[in-house]
Amino acid sequence: MHTIKKILIANRGEIAVRIMQTCRRLNIATVAVYSEADRHAKHVAMADEAVCLGSVVLADSYLNIEKIIQAAKDTGADAIHPGYGFLSERATFAKAVADAGLTFIGAPASAMELMGSKSAAKISMIAANVPCVPGYQDADQSEGVLFEAAKEIGFPVLIKATAGGGGKGMKIVETKADFLSQLSSAKREAKNAFGDDEVILEKYITAPKHIEVQVFADSFGNVVHLFERDCSTQRRYQKIIEEAPAAGLNDATRTDLLNAAVKATQAIDYLGAGTIEFIMDDQDNFYFMEMNTRLQVEHRVTEMITGQDLVEWQIKVAQGEALPLNQMQIRANGHAIQVRVYAEDADNDYLPSTGLLEQVNLAASVNTLVDSGVRSGDTVSIHYDPMIAKLVVWADDRVECIDKTLDVISQSSIFGVQNNLGFLAKILANKDFKRNAICTNTLDNDALDLSLPLQDEVVAVYAQQAHQLLHSESNKAWDVKDGWRPTGEESIRLSVNYLGEDHQFTVREEAGQIVVNERSYYLPNESDVCHIHRNLAHVIHNDQRYVLTLPDHESLASASNSNEIVSPMPGKIIEVMVKPGDEVQIDDTLLVMEAMKMELQLKAEKNAVIEAVNCQAGDQVLADAVLVSFKEEA
Ligand code: ADP
Repeated sequence: MHTIKKILIANRGEIAVRIMQTCRRLNIATVAVYSEADRHAKHVAMADEAVCLGSVVLADSYLNIEKIIQAAKDTGADAIHPGYGFLSERATFAKAVADAGLTFIGAPASAMELMGSKSAAKISMIAANVPCVPGYQDADQSEGVLFEAAKEIGFPVLIKATAGGGGKGMKIVETKADFLSQLSSAKREAKNAFGDDEVILEKYITAPKHIEVQVFADSFGNVVHLFERDCSTQRRYQKIIEEAPAAGLNDATRTDLLNAAVKATQAIDYLGAGTIEFIMDDQDNFYFMEMNTRLQVEHRVTEMITGQDLVEWQIKVAQGEALPLNQMQIRANGHAIQVRVYAEDADNDYLPSTGLLEQVNLAASVNTLVDSGVRSGDTVSIHYDPMIAKLVVWADDRVECIDKTLDVISQSSIFGVQNNLGFLAKILANKDFKRNAICTNTLDNDALDLSLPLQDEVVAVYAQQAHQLLHSESNKAWDVKDGWRPTGEESIRLSVNYLGEDHQFTVREEAGQIVVNERSYYLPNESDVCHIHRNLAHVIHNDQRYVLTLPDHESLASASNSNEIVSPMPGKIIEVMVKPGDEVQIDDTLLVMEAMKMELQLKAEKNAVIEAVNCQAGDQVLADAVLVSFKEEA
């Protein structure tokens, strides 16, 4: 046994930050490594020391084993934690770390090698009497043999790359007739992604739940589980919401599942944190799928229900200590949910969204954890995973936990890149999610009704918020002079773009209520939230997030009489770009005004000559004020 004093974290982002948090608490010094692109990243700022590895190219930085080990030596680190992803499951890395005389805070290389191959893993699990999905996992890869095996398994069949991971290289084959073409396409993909075209075949479970068990082993032969997680809410075979415990598991099945996971771990020579992933059919039959020989992204939900710090456990086990608790001492309490916040467009095939994170505001709350490797002003780049954060929430039971998670999401906002906060809220509020009826393929099959039509109330929430902002931020004169009077006769016209479509509203306030389109009278709820940033408003109403683009400049400008540009709403003139006599072209910006926290560009809607300009920068103007007039066309 030796005491680890300084840990180099061979990773970036939220997991690097998360590992450092535990190191700090345990008074262990930390060394960050980074690529040139990450020089100003949060994990670098947080570490006691930091070493630049090289360029943004992965092989030059986060995947460069030699440079990482050299950095550990140069800084006097005595251990390396690989986090997840990157080198965390590379046997060659674990070996190289050990060969350099450093402690690897992770699984043994032998376990990584075994579990890195889906066929070898399955063969060893079958030998250990752990239930596996019926399938074919032998070395003979000839077409004929695979085809016969597929027919025997029975369609639909799932083809998986033996060396696969991250859901890549998997093909569902519905019928016999599709098998051979799908096989060659799976092999091609596998070859490209993993440099190895070997596949295994499995019975495709049609309505599967993904349930996994957190296990831990020490060097004294102790193996324990820390209960299970349900990770069935996936898109493209990738988890986005994880929970512990798994709702709807009966006690007998849970006991069998946990025992099977411990048995699987005992069957291989294991050390440290691991996860045994099972797939479960609608009859509660569960089958081993794979073992992840590392800490998982979703380990936080397990920490929440058990009150344990799994990184601390990893460090203890790595330095030769026994597991901190025995099985009887590990208790689960309450319910935890983690949502993964990604920079992606859920309405557009989950396309990653890159760019500047202009504003990141992740709500902290009681019994809530926010793991994030980014801050406002950071960039989401194409080079790395687009996960922005994990929000992890604990409550006494699942119902309360869902509510609380929705609340945390409502209070959070991210501007600058597209993100899935709204999508996550839609799932959490969905009745099928609430009754625990989500399978791993539910989202991919579009089997949930996640449509969210715009409602007048949503516009009212925005208007109310904008109104308050105006009152608090502007001077009294503005308050008295313009729209939004307490008994306001005057309405403003509001044009918002929602999901690519323009919607027009007239809005006014009357006796503390908001009147939208003369029909809805609305008093905002306490749970309504509005986050405004530039020309975007994220309105949360009944837990759901509506992203409004405000307003559509051109339709506002064209709302004016064709020989005039009128002010679409009360506001302040920021800039005047023209003077009488100027010739302007269609779409030229004539004026910039600010109203309701956003900048509007008022544009010419035809080629014309300016006759008069009735305002100057700094002026407060009323709705419908004529700002610029054009000469009649010659
Ligand atoms: P990877 O290593 O690429 O992550 P896994 O074997 O862990 O692949 O499977 C990833 C996901 O694919 C699972 O969480 C599950 O949603 C789905 N899946 C895997 N095997 C099956 C199967 N036999 N039937 C149905 N779905 C499956």
